[in-house]
Amino acid sequence: MEKQARIYIAGHRGMVGSAIVRKLQAEGYTNLIMRTSSELDLRNQVAVADFFEEEKPEYVFLAAAKVGGILANNIYRAEFLYDNLIIEANIIQSAYKTGVKKLLFLGSSCIYPKMAPQPLQEEYLLTGLLEPTNEPYAIAKIAGIKLCEAYRSQYGCNYISAMPTNLYGPNDNYDLQGSHVLPALIRKFHEAKINNQPSVEVWGTGSPRREFLHADDLADACVFLMEEYNDELFVNIGTGEDVTIRELAEAVKDVVGFEGELRWDTSKPDGTPRKLMDVSRIHNLGWKHKTELRDGLEKTYQDFLANEVLYVE
Ligand code: GDP
Repeated sequence: MEKQARIYIAGHRGMVGSAIVRKLQAEGYTNLIMRTSSELDLRNQVAVADFFEEEKPEYVFLAAAKVGGILANNIYRAEFLYDNLIIEANIIQSAYKTGVKKLLFLGSSCIYPKMAPQPLQEEYLLTGLLEPTNEPYAIAKIAGIKLCEAYRSQYGCNYISAMPTNLYGPNDNYDLQGSHVLPALIRKFHEAKINNQPSVEVWGTGSPRREFLHADDLADACVFLMEEYNDELFVNIGTGEDVTIRELAEAVKDVVGFEGELRWDTSKPDGTPRKLMDVSRIHNLGWKHKTELRDGLEKTYQDFLANEVLYVE
């Protein structure tokens, strides 16, 4: 990518898109194209086609998606399927029509079968049944991978896909009903500390294992892949290390400085027992994460404190 290239970041206000924008700006890319959802509704086929015709981006980071934690995914099943399918389809078709040079599509580790062997190798896609709580989101993300593969095979488009593990960082969603576990725990422990509550409620049994990658590391990997990688097979992005939800909760509790107890609400779902990424492929390409979980949690708690009014409405 030339520093003057016209680069469209779809979803630039989200945690992933905003991290990609910070990374590109830091690297000296000067021609970034961005639209808020009120300026451009990515679910509107005609609006997306017109936008690509007018702006003619050369590179596209497809980080726009409807995302959420285990509860939101399970409740808003139609929206998670429809919104994500149509956003991907509109952007990928418009990119093809207007001759975009390269596109990076972002998926998720939930595309893998619920009971796939661990760690998750890219080859395990479509070898078994999905986790029911986020099946609609996963089906949409699998469709996105398949769109990139099909446009490559039929039209010769250089569209690549990256599958990040669970992410955290600036501009995360801190809404307790909609968020993922890590931001939820930061907020819950922080509020419990401020209000002198004796305990904090944590969902499930605490035994599921999850891997966490800082959004800045993901952005670094995305720019790396955009510059270095041109193959059909999608690439996992993670740290290759996971912790139990109980270990995560203890670590967040410690970073926030809450001194009360954890109460496990086992009426809430555990979800997939484990989803640890096999990151050999990206390691072999020459990329590795930089932020370890403890440092990332400390950085993220500081960011939460600085932006609490924005994050908690
Ligand atoms: P998942 O990775 O798709 O399952 O999504 P989440 O990040 O929402 O949940 C991960 C795990 O953390 C699940 O086992 C949840 O039950 C558990 N968990 C514990 N406390 C919370 C919480 O306050 N919010 C969320 N979203 N998950 C929690």
